Amino acid sequence: MAVTAVRPIVLAVLAVLAGSAAAQDKADKPARNGLDGPAKALFGGKKGPADMAARSIGFYTRGCLAGGLALPVDGPNWQVMRLSRNRNWGHPNLIRMLERLAEQAPKLGWPGLLVGDLAQPRGGPMLTGHASHQVGLDADVWLTPMPDRVLSRQEREDTSAINMVASDGNDIDPAVWTPQHVAIIRAAALAPDAERVLVNPAIKKALCRDARGDRSWLAKVRPYYRHEFHMHIRIPCPKGDPCKPQDPPPGGDGCGKELDWWFSDAARKPPKTPIKPRPPLRLADLPPSCRVVLTAP
Ligand SMILES: [Zn+2]
Repeated sequence: MAVTAVRPIVLAVLAVLAGSAAAQDKADKPARNGLDGPAKALFGGKKGPADMAARSIGFYTRGCLAGGLALPVDGPNWQVMRLSRNRNWGHPNLIRMLERLAEQAPKLGWPGLLVGDLAQPRGGPMLTGHASHQVGLDADVWLTPMPDRVLSRQEREDTSAINMVASDGNDIDPAVWTPQHVAIIRAAALAPDAERVLVNPAIKKALCRDARGDRSWLAKVRPYYRHEFHMHIRIPCPKGDPCKPQDPPPGGDGCGKELDWWFSDAARKPPKTPIKPRPPLRLADLPPSCRVVLTAP
């Protein structure tokens, strides 16, 4: 009797295990047939923009971009890095914001911008890095000043950005931090279009210490994990676009307790129970118009 009672349970357990293995297998497979695979493979495979009016669709971490515009790889005061990634695409508002910031840079003693990832030609999730950068409203700008010459394609792949944070993570590295860093981050935060500028907590700490005069711009500079090598500039959802706005940053300069938390054990210790990796986003997880964006000519 014991054997007959146990058998169905064993079979049920085996069936469940087989089911979850199959589900995992399915989650890992790239897009094999049509549009069923992970959305990052679908959007990451698109070489050019969707020929549609420019629109940011969805949310920074779950969406796509119609009518993406490319930031030219060389501008008067900027150079795009890592050209092989083809991530110099954005909403026209983002491109305009970067061009204006680059224009201001030399007046601030910052020779020009080295521009990292914006978005893929049609936005969407990416095969590597970044949970956000999906709707063409996010831009990474290196905290390394632009050299006084045009970098070759290869140099743009190989050159490393400078780590601005000391090895203990508690403050900036004084050997590389300059007043011009304060000036360029301030200019980014003061850009009319900028909603948030994400930097490492140690960098925010240095800005809190170094900012002179009006400190209101500090409200937009938000501490976040990593971001030791670049600042991440985010602009708001354009008026009339089908995207979801993010709550504006809380008021105040953000230099007090809120910043202290980032240096606490709670912020630094890994969680006790490891966070389960989320399954990759699929096309069905994105707003329905992203299917149109993906399949548009
Ligand atoms: Zn970023």
